[in-house]
Amino acid sequence: MIDLANPSEEHQMLREMIRDFVQEFVEPQAHEYDKKEQFNIELFRELGELGLLGITVPEEYGGAGLDAVAATIAHEELTYSDAGFALAYLAHSMLFVNNLAFNGSEEQKTRILPKVCSGEWIGAMAMSEPDAGTDVLGLSTTAEKNADGDWVLNGRKMWITNGCIDDKGTPADVVWVYAKTGHDEKGRVKLSTFLVEKGMPGFSVGQKIFDKTGMRASNTAELVFDDCIVPAANLVGEEGGSLLHMMGNLEIERLTLGAMSLGIARRCLHEMNKYASERANPLIWTNATSHRRIMGKVPCHASLCLRYGEQHQARNLWSTS
Ligand SMILES: Cc1cc2nc3c(=O)[nH]c(=O)nc-3n(C[C@H](O)[C@H](O)[C@H](O)COP(=O)(O)OP(=O)(O)OC[C@H]3O[C@@H](n4cnc5c(N)ncnc54)[C@H](O)[C@@H]3O)c2cc1C
Repeated sequence: MIDLANPSEEHQMLREMIRDFVQEFVEPQAHEYDKKEQFNIELFRELGELGLLGITVPEEYGGAGLDAVAATIAHEELTYSDAGFALAYLAHSMLFVNNLAFNGSEEQKTRILPKVCSGEWIGAMAMSEPDAGTDVLGLSTTAEKNADGDWVLNGRKMWITNGCIDDKGTPADVVWVYAKTGHDEKGRVKLSTFLVEKGMPGFSVGQKIFDKTGMRASNTAELVFDDCIVPAANLVGEEGGSLLHMMGNLEIERLTLGAMSLGIARRCLHEMNKYASERANPLIWTNATSHRRIMGKVPCHASLCLRYGEQHQARNLWSTS
């Protein structure tokens, strides 16, 4: 019978490699960075050395050229020890890197992918705004062309993971930004995608958001675009092409977010079993705890089947190994 979670020997080896790394380096720092609400950027850059930051990116751009199962494994294993750190990983490697690898121009991919795959640059994706979350078409950040042919962005983005990389408000090196560029002939909003880089005039961090109830080891920020000048070459794809970028990338985003839930659930189950069996009066054989353990395992297994089953349908696969 096929092992859904490790369909090939390579997937099994990848899982073991990440699990060893997580045990040795991620687990020991997780509690401290969660308490301090800090992003462990040095450890994050080490994921680049392991080939994980560009896990789905073709090797010619500095990536590992692996498939959606591999990305799912990486998210599950990192989250088992540190969900906040794993969210920073997801924002970088899926929301930014995978999207660029799939939708960027040759010039954009050649220039930026090697830097984000190695961890030299930290990436983020900015869709949400103070008044637009689920309803993405309601976003109000605008981009207009100026006389030089560059784009001028105005607006604010909210809750952006990796939007800043420290407590001093240093912005991400590069942000995938959605903005309104007008309406089409049928009156529908046109959303376009821009690569905004650190140092571009008018781009800044409004605030790092502190005191989150979870995911505290990832930075969440407000980003400000105040007459921000973005070169024409940093428009991704066609003007009005954002819906294709968003919807295409959502497939792998949902899979890997689901893998994060699975990692959290696995860890909860592990901690529950440990407590139940180690306490002075072990709970493990009581009727109520057996019931709860089973009730915990069922959703874990269901989630595992769903996540690893779904990846067969995901379109964003670079290889099918
Ligand atoms: C830790 C963290 C990290 C994040 N990172 C990023 C990031 O990197 N980039 C980014 O762009 N955003 C990010 N976000 C924002 C996140 O994507 C939004 O919070 C999300 O899209 C929901 O938007 P909202 O909070 O405005 O809620 P709302 O859109 O106001 O929704 C609130 C509730 O109402 C429900 N709802 C909304 N509309 C309808 C409707 N029409 N019918 C029925 N129910 C509805 C929703 O399902 C939800 O339960 C992050 C958020 C958090 C908390």
